[in-house]
Amino acid sequence: MKIHEYQARELFRQYAIPVTDDILCHTVSEVEQAAKQLNRMVVVKAQVLTGGRGKAGGVKLARTVDEAVNAASKILGMDIKGYKVEKVLVADAVDIQKEYYVGLTIDRNTKSVLFMASAEGGVEIEEVAKVNPDAIHKIPVDPDLGMTDFLARKIAFKLFTDPTLVKQATGVFKKLYQLFVDTDSSLAEINPLVVTNDGKLIAIDGKMNFDDNALFRQSAIEALNEPDEDEKKELEAKASGLTYIRLDGNIGCMVNGAGLAMATMDVIKHFGGSPANFLDIGGSSSPQKVIDAMNLLLSDKNVKVIMINIFGGITRCDDVARGLITALDEMKVDIPIVIRLSGTNAEEGLRIIKERNLPIVGSLSEAAQYAIKAIS
Ligand code: GDP
Ligand code: MN
Repeated sequence: MKIHEYQARELFRQYAIPVTDDILCHTVSEVEQAAKQLNRMVVVKAQVLTGGRGKAGGVKLARTVDEAVNAASKILGMDIKGYKVEKVLVADAVDIQKEYYVGLTIDRNTKSVLFMASAEGGVEIEEVAKVNPDAIHKIPVDPDLGMTDFLARKIAFKLFTDPTLVKQATGVFKKLYQLFVDTDSSLAEINPLVVTNDGKLIAIDGKMNFDDNALFRQSAIEALNEPDEDEKKELEAKASGLTYIRLDGNIGCMVNGAGLAMATMDVIKHFGGSPANFLDIGGSSSPQKVIDAMNLLLSDKNVKVIMINIFGGITRCDDVARGLITALDEMKVDIPIVIRLSGTNAEEGLRIIKERNLPIVGSLSEAAQYAIKAIS
């Protein structure tokens, strides 16, 4: 689960990580009020769940209230990487001496939290990692010891020489680590963490992701969730017992079992196609589940063909077939469908499908090739 910058800033505040004052706004007139209230130079920032807002024109400095209003009217409604800007943050602007990067993530190799820090802040860290990987310090944090004063200071000395900055950074690193651990975070980034002209260390951007599997014990975090359209669909799917992840391709997949779903996507890729989704309808599938799954697939305008791949174990192929026929009776499907059924009750399932003259194939490879051909 992702949260917005304004929400990350709020968590930083709770942990006494220094951030600038800010006010969340939904309209231009709210921005006008906010700019008056903050009463100095401000920065107007698009609140969307994606990075690189600055580059896209979604972060603008404003010296006057008029400039803030002007910036807000440009940013509100803007499209940033497919996300529509519906709110902006008006924050006190700072005079920046230098920008740094600080980030925490989980490292599976060292089985610990990895602390990353770089003096090449502000720009996208993926870019730094590509062009100048040595500029990113990576320090695993021992889970038993946590972020000790010693370790925090050691990292701080990699970025700063000035003792007052080292001291401030040590505090920020310890607090950020604690926040990361306390909230079952999977990513916590401050980019940039800046040194201001008057020598203060302040976070002026924040990004946090959380482990979905830990949300059951993180109700305060879960309450921050503002799912986007794709995520809403994923949640709806979850509620009807389906596991759905939207992807960018055009072959809609309906599969039972996560392993088979992965294999199905691999085979589609292997033959040069592109899956539109991961969709696991699970075991013991009822006709209703198939109907829900069909609805889900058809609601994605990118889907040009539907490929159904069922290996009947607990799931009975005849149930899937009946669900499919019921679904087809209920809804208008004007794209091709290809079906591969095998395993428990496959014969009965295939008989039901055949009555409808739907294309049946014998193997996963054939199904993938059929689907690709149907849309090329
Ligand atoms: P991002 O592009 O989505 O990462 O958005 P950021 O909040 O990180 O802002 C992008 C860039 O805008 C920063 O790296 C800064 O260079 C600049 N910026 C943001 N806030 C301020 C500010 O208060 N003062 C100044 N001078 N620049 C800022
Ligand atoms: Mn940033």
